[in-house]
This record gives sequence, structure tokens and C-alpha cells, in this order.
Amino acid sequence: QKKLLEVNDLKTYFFTEGGTIPSVDGVSFSVDRGELVAIVGESGSGKSVTSLSMMGLVEEPGKIVNGSINFEGKDLAKYTNSQMRKIRGNDIAMIFQEPLTSLNPVFTIGNQLKEAILEHQNVDKKKAKEMSISMLKQVGIPRAEQVYRSFPHSLSGGMRQRVMIAMALSCNPKLLIADEPTTALDVTIQAQILELMKDLVKKFDTAIILITHDLGVVAELVDRVIVMYAGQVVEQSDVFSLFKNPRHPYTRGLLDSTPKVQDLDEELKSIQGTVPTPSEMPAGCRFEPRCPYAMDHCKTHEPKLEVLPDGRDVRCWLYDEEVMKDVDERPDLT
Ligand code: SF4
Ligand code: MG
Repeated sequence: QKKLLEVNDLKTYFFTEGGTIPSVDGVSFSVDRGELVAIVGESGSGKSVTSLSMMGLVEEPGKIVNGSINFEGKDLAKYTNSQMRKIRGNDIAMIFQEPLTSLNPVFTIGNQLKEAILEHQNVDKKKAKEMSISMLKQVGIPRAEQVYRSFPHSLSGGMRQRVMIAMALSCNPKLLIADEPTTALDVTIQAQILELMKDLVKKFDTAIILITHDLGVVAELVDRVIVMYAGQVVEQSDVFSLFKNPRHPYTRGLLDSTPKVQDLDEELKSIQGTVPTPSEMPAGCRFEPRCPYAMDHCKTHEPKLEVLPDGRDVRCWLYDEEVMKDVDERPDLT
């Protein structure tokens, strides 16, 4: 079986006093075994809530109200908290932006790594220690024995993130969800961590979902990209085609605002405006108020995510032949 994860029409809403916030609003995607996928979008796009939903970590007043999260034939959307706890750190592991908040400051690195291994694998303490040190070495930590005895605060941000990756991979997860794992790190360290993740995935055959606002890190790491906007998927594509020929105007905007490594002097355009709040959600296309290609049709009609003949998905009327046949001046999208 090739498919590891299949998310179907997922809706995660937050029921606040000010009203209902549809943070994730009908999201569908799938991930194959060992595949590297990125979910990209600005803050407020719903990408983090999507990952929290998969981990069973959505907190009150949030709730999964619709859809399924099929992981190896089990629907995680229906799992109880205690069932999810068994899945987390076992079959699915997660790393976050700031490892200091997920590492306990009063215990040594070794202690925490060893505990994680003891909890998830059937080995004795001596073996768990050996495995911990070997894991630290595998994630490229020099003087692993010494780091094993160190406390989190004595390590640099990059080293702490390596420790978190070691911890996440120590239980051999089938899926690793990484939410902005390199955002707090400087560019050089960031590149090293991404390279490390890429190597480890090959070695352990783990699939990765990388959650990021930064298309720049995506190009280096993943096979496929899912672009989210205002709680929905607006484009889905293999990484090469996405960079070469972005289809959704929002993806184009994201790319225009991403610095290219070759060209540090270029002027970056940012996408005007912000992600709409629920109370001002446009009636038609959710991107319409910010879209440079918006047509009258877009104001009143909400586009669906359509699969184009080459297998890429896009949610935009510009790719609908029926709608475009009445439009006199088609924009140049090449
Ligand atoms: Fe822009 Fe219209 Fe496409 Fe929405 S549907 S992204 S407004 S062109
Ligand atoms: Mg986030």
C-alpha cells in the first residue's frame, strides 16, 4: 500500500464568543510512504491547525467538525485523546519551531531521549542509552556522549533542533510533521537542518509533512507542495512544476515575495493585503480582494479545487474553460 495518509474534506472550526472561525475549511490531500510534502501559506492560512488536527492536538474551543484523517486505514479524526497519545511519538512524530519549549529544561538531553525510546520501544535502559547516543551521532551532533549529559539551555538553537529531530526519529515514526522547524534558525544552520532531514528520511523511510510560510525552504526539501489560503487548499503540485509555472495567483504572489538564492539584489514584491478574517470572508473566491487577476465572476462565485489534465490541482476560475470563454482579455499566465 503506497498511501500512508489520506485527509478528506477536513474541517476544523474554532467556536469563539466572537463567532465561528473556520480555520481549516474542507481540506483534502494525501501523502505516500516516504514522501516529502510541504504545506505552504501565510500565517492564518490554516496550515498549522491542519497539522494539529492530524496530531489530535486541537484545543478548545477548536474542534474537528467534519472529514476524515485516514492513517494506514485508521480514521484519526475519530480517535479519543488516549488513542491519539499512543499514535503520537510512535507512528507520527512532530517537531516545532522552537525546540526549547518542547525540551524540558530540568532534565538532560540524554535523559529525555532515553525516556522517549523507553516509552516507545521494547528495550532495557542500557540499550536505550546506546540508542540515544547513536541517534545523536546520526543527526550530526559532535561529541554526542558529552551532549547526552548536557542540559538543553547549554546547546545552540541548531543543536537543539537536531536533538528534537533525533527524539522524533528515535521511535521510528512513519510520518514526521515539522511545523516551521527552521524558522528560528539562521540561514546556514537552516540549510544544514533541512539537509539532515532529507538524509534521515531516506535512511528511515519516514514521510515528512513540512509546514512553512517560506517557499524558499520548500524547494530544497520536498517532492510535492500543497498551498493553503484562508483555510483551503488553493494549489497542489509537484515542486518542480510549481516553481516553474505557478498556477494560482496566490502561489505566484508567494513566489514573487520569496528571495532567490542566485539573486540577492532583486526587489521582492509582497502580496498586498492580508488573509481575510471570518467576518469579512469574501462571498466568491477568498483571494479575490488581493488578486491582481480578479474578474467580476470571482466576486460572486467560489471556485472549487479542480484537477487539471497534468494532475496538478488549482482553485481558480482562470483555469475554467467555461468561465474564461466569456472573458475578452485573458491575462498572460506564462
Ligand atoms: Fe483571482 Fe479569480 Fe482566481 Fe480567485 S478565482 S484567484 S480572484 S482569478
Ligand atoms: Mg504556524
